[in-house]
Amino acid sequence: MLDADFFRRWMTATAASVDREAERLTALDAAIGDADHGSNMRRGFTAVQAELDKETPGTPGAVLMLAGRLLISTVGGASGPLYGTLLRRTGKALGEDPEVTEEQLAEALRAGVQGVMKLGGAAAGDKTMVDALLPAVDALGDGFAAARAAAEQGAEATVPLLAHKGRASYLGERSIGHQDPGATSSALLMAALAETAE
Ligand code: ADP
Ligand code: MG
Ligand code: MG
Repeated sequence: MLDADFFRRWMTATAASVDREAERLTALDAAIGDADHGSNMRRGFTAVQAELDKETPGTPGAVLMLAGRLLISTVGGASGPLYGTLLRRTGKALGEDPEVTEEQLAEALRAGVQGVMKLGGAAAGDKTMVDALLPAVDALGDGFAAARAAAEQGAEATVPLLAHKGRASYLGERSIGHQDPGATSSALLMAALAETAE
């Protein structure tokens, strides 16, 4: 069973990973966007960490809803509302249980990813975070390590894709040959989940 502290540690691990990888995320965004994805994610997860340092909500759902709310209010870019929706929807789907199963988390994350797809209008193959998140959710039934691997493969598989959503889509064919920054940060989120479960 996964309790609120597990979810707090997942968010803490994500914040640390985003902080470590911020320059790489920004470099990826410099190639096909506006060079702010690393700083956007760092600002958001620094705010999440600061709030969780003050107080951890009592349920898994409440931890994720708090994190989602902070991402929406602190991240200016497209990724703020999208990640915020991912975490809020996932948290809402977890309900008020003090502990949840891996199966519940897999189901809730699927609802979260559907929320991202609805808000941003992106489908699989559009070269966005969805290309890491969807395969991760599909693989979660095989465990956290499988979900991490699927997210990392999904992010790498965005390289040859043509961007159909977000700033990268303004580049048209010139978006081909670069890894999507949001798919890359989504792989960090799933890697942090796998590390937390170890
Ligand atoms: P901005 O593009 O506003 O500067 P970021 O650089 O923080 O925001 O985030 C860019 C990432 O957001 C992209 O790499 C992509 O993965 C994701 N993204 C952008 N638009 C969409 C969308 N409509 N649906 C899903 N993901 C999107
Ligand atoms: Mg950007
Ligand atoms: Mg921007």
